[in-house]
Amino acid sequence: MSARADDDATLAGSAAFVGPVGAGPGTGADSPGAVVARTTVASVYSSGLCMQCGTCAALCKQGAITMRWNVRTGLEPVVSLEACNDCGTCLEVCPGPGLDFTDGAWWRERNRGAPSADFLGPWRRLAFGWATDAEVRYRGASGGVATAILQGALATGSVDSVIACRMDPDNALEVEPVIARTPEEISACRGSKYNVVATNVLLRRVIEEPGRYALIGLPCHIQGLRLAQRRHPLLRERVVLAVGIFCGWTGLPQMAAVAARRAGLDADDLTSVTYRGPDWPGVMRLETASGECRDLPYPDYYVDMMYGYVPTRCRFCPDALAELADISVGDAWLDRFYGTPGVSDLIARTDAGVRLLEDLEPEWLTLEEARPGDMVDSQVETYVMKRPIYRGRRWLRRLAGRAVPDYPGVQITSTAADRLRGAHDLARQVVYKALGDLRYP
Ligand SMILES: Cc1cc2nc3c(=O)[nH]c(=O)nc-3n(C[C@H](O)[C@H](O)[C@H](O)COP(=O)(O)OP(=O)(O)OC[C@H]3O[C@@H](n4cnc5c(N)ncnc54)[C@H](O)[C@@H]3O)c2cc1C
Repeated sequence: MSARADDDATLAGSAAFVGPVGAGPGTGADSPGAVVARTTVASVYSSGLCMQCGTCAALCKQGAITMRWNVRTGLEPVVSLEACNDCGTCLEVCPGPGLDFTDGAWWRERNRGAPSADFLGPWRRLAFGWATDAEVRYRGASGGVATAILQGALATGSVDSVIACRMDPDNALEVEPVIARTPEEISACRGSKYNVVATNVLLRRVIEEPGRYALIGLPCHIQGLRLAQRRHPLLRERVVLAVGIFCGWTGLPQMAAVAARRAGLDADDLTSVTYRGPDWPGVMRLETASGECRDLPYPDYYVDMMYGYVPTRCRFCPDALAELADISVGDAWLDRFYGTPGVSDLIARTDAGVRLLEDLEPEWLTLEEARPGDMVDSQVETYVMKRPIYRGRRWLRRLAGRAVPDYPGVQITSTAADRLRGAHDLARQVVYKALGDLRYP
């Protein structure tokens, strides 16, 4: 990471997060109109900085926070003022206001001695690879390495439980977090879901039920996990493996509903949404109760439609490659891999991550070494989202007087070109959202 260049002030960690809750709609509090000074995540939500990860709900000892699902806005932490004792824990573990990415941060201790670079983060081993099992590779989002790592970790006894996510069998537009304890349950989670999920609510179960857990999640989940581990010794002891998924942006549930309507389907009739079907890069498959099925090729559906239905907070997160994970995985978007059944990027960041990859080769994983430049080249589009667009959007949001998250250690100085890209991105988001809402209400 390069040194932080503080070209604009931030509201994160300031009085903006300590104030009246329940003062109106969208505050995240459950009793509108009450004016009670509380230091809760409700203020993070109302500032537009909530990452919807669910860490707050898991760590609240009072059980005062629930994650409320909405097709248009995703997940909202709702704080019960009756149950809340104003202890402030939910804010302490909330990654929404930002996170320290400097070398002094405790999670960086785990990376001591590892080379590090802006965007790539710290690494000990870089590889391209795929699941050795052809079926796992074919049916995975990329090379099936996430499923192979988790199944391998289970089989070799590194962990006995895996926190992952799968599509909710009762709501085709919703993703649910699950604890998987068999290879079959891990397989049921495979595939990327371009949707929000409060994976970290299951950290509550980790506190309650002894075991050795792995957690797989987006960068926001891993950030929440590390903050929760800082707060809670049992989480430090029990979550022994964090697998991070590269992430440009995720989508809101409504994205799949709009995709269905565009494809001539009744969104209310959807029984199954698969965001990345078999093979690589895979298709978005939509199925309905009346037996209709549509395959929308990736990335056509992703590029234009996603623009309108991305949680705004994603645009202010610079952590593309899950820097706080033990192992990060993504798509190896390089010309030489097109036409294959799927190849993944793998970044082992900690000693534990390196050891696990060694243990899983070759039975579970087939790997070839990669150079830092190749790894970055495989993420050209994500780099643009998470650096020039991130910086431009951040600058614009600050200009508008809105709260921005703070990431000490991340380069935030924006150039004129970044601001132009930011403005273009904002316009694109607004136009696609308006068009989508107009044509597919
Ligand atoms: C929202 C999102 C954005 C992404 N952006 C990029 C990107 O910009 N560049 C890039 O190279 N790759 C990106 N990826 C990663 C890529 O799509 C694959 O998920 C990754 O390469 C792993 O593939 P695999 O075949 O190894 O995983 P699989 O073996 O198919 O397993 C996927 C695992 O991911 C977990 N998972 C899926 N969706 C979610 C979710 N929404 N939240 C938490 N966990 C989830 C599942 O529990 C499952 O265990 C993104 C993925 C997601 C979900």
